[in-house]
Amino acid sequence: MVESKRLNKIPEKVIIPLRQHRGAVCESLVKKGDEVLIGQKIGESSEHYSSAVHSSVCGEVLAVEESAHPDGNKVMSVVIQPSDSEETVAFTPVKNPSKDALLKLIKEAGIVEHYGAPTHTVLKPSDGKIDIVVINATASEWIGGKYNTPKEYSSQMIAALKLLMKAAGASKGAIIVGKDDEESIEAFDGVEVDGKALKVAPLLGSRRLGHYFKDQNSNIVVASQKRIYGKNILNFFTYNVTGRKVALGSDPTSVGVAICGVKSAKALYDAVHEGKPYYETVITIEGAEDCPEYMLVKIGTPFKDVIESCNFGEVGKIIANGVLTGVAQYTDEVPVTKGTTKITVQKPEEILRDESDVCVHCARCVDACPVSLIPSRLAVMADQGRFDECRQFHIENCIECGKCAAVCPSKIHILQLIRYAKDAICLAYEDLPCKESSNLKLGCCGGE
Ligand code: SF4
Ligand code: SF4
Repeated sequence: MVESKRLNKIPEKVIIPLRQHRGAVCESLVKKGDEVLIGQKIGESSEHYSSAVHSSVCGEVLAVEESAHPDGNKVMSVVIQPSDSEETVAFTPVKNPSKDALLKLIKEAGIVEHYGAPTHTVLKPSDGKIDIVVINATASEWIGGKYNTPKEYSSQMIAALKLLMKAAGASKGAIIVGKDDEESIEAFDGVEVDGKALKVAPLLGSRRLGHYFKDQNSNIVVASQKRIYGKNILNFFTYNVTGRKVALGSDPTSVGVAICGVKSAKALYDAVHEGKPYYETVITIEGAEDCPEYMLVKIGTPFKDVIESCNFGEVGKIIANGVLTGVAQYTDEVPVTKGTTKITVQKPEEILRDESDVCVHCARCVDACPVSLIPSRLAVMADQGRFDECRQFHIENCIECGKCAAVCPSKIHILQLIRYAKDAICLAYEDLPCKESSNLKLGCCGGE
């Protein structure tokens, strides 16, 4: 199992954004000059679609002001000068919480999904009911560091899944691991659920979770499938694992499926068993010569401090959340947030500065697209503002994985053009009813 390292260096300041997800920005509960402790709640909102924010350090509040956020915007943030004290507020574990108590705890503990939704809104959507909870562990090999053994990791994930199912009132649950992630498969193979040892089932062909719930005679299963990367993979992933089609413009909760991440599952486990709120996270480090692949970091730690703790050499470009679909940063003063999964640092000579050339119709982008789009045509239509035609060519199905742009020999900025068109379409067609995805109808993204 890949080990992670805790970032022990105390930053000069931590910057904790009062918005860690889509939706409402929290109101600050502190002001300049206040002293805060680790785990102290420093922001909250009465809106349902919101989640509390906690201090990750002990120290003095320097300011409550707008600061750079890794998504490229400026967000109201609490800036704290940390002391070297590790004093925390009193953490109180919760014994056998009820469904409602769990939902309340999830909001209070600040647990959110890395894709931007507060976890309690995923488990209890305003318009429907969840019957399956799925932990997507395909893209996060693991959260290292805190676990002594792979089996400890897998049994905690099963316990976390049960808590998520209880909060959602769901009768079934599943954990999906990457089919090439041997460590996770080994960790979960034989894991005990209610006295029964589970096998990790590969999702093959048209077999979905429903088959394995029956086959294993269990309401909880662990399955493996090919990893899917991309910014908007939720609907695609939901179809792959459950066979349920999510209407365009909607999300998996509309078909009774709650998709959670490994990080939020772990955060819930800690909130229940230790009483700890969500104030630190594990991120992947990419580009360093001599650094652990994973690092446990306090939320609010500036990228600068993470980078300085690794041997990156000369820094050319900093990217949050992956090279293919992430956001290049204009400053290293942006903080790690609950949505940060990866920090990539490129050396000056690694930065791609090539100008785009004309399309040579090689069709590599078509071959690379996991949802069977024609990226080259979409890029041309987007560039020319032909958004109606983009819709006819099902641009909404794009999961923003960036594979088309990565393989394009002409360095055409396909993903950026597609995002531009999708944004324009969202603005222009926001009143249109959701329609079913034609791609999903074709089943072209069947589980593998
Ligand atoms: S069009 Fe490009 S970014 Fe969109 S899903 Fe296809 S390959 Fe990925
Ligand atoms: S990969 Fe690039 S050059 Fe090739 S067809 Fe697609 S857009 Fe055109």
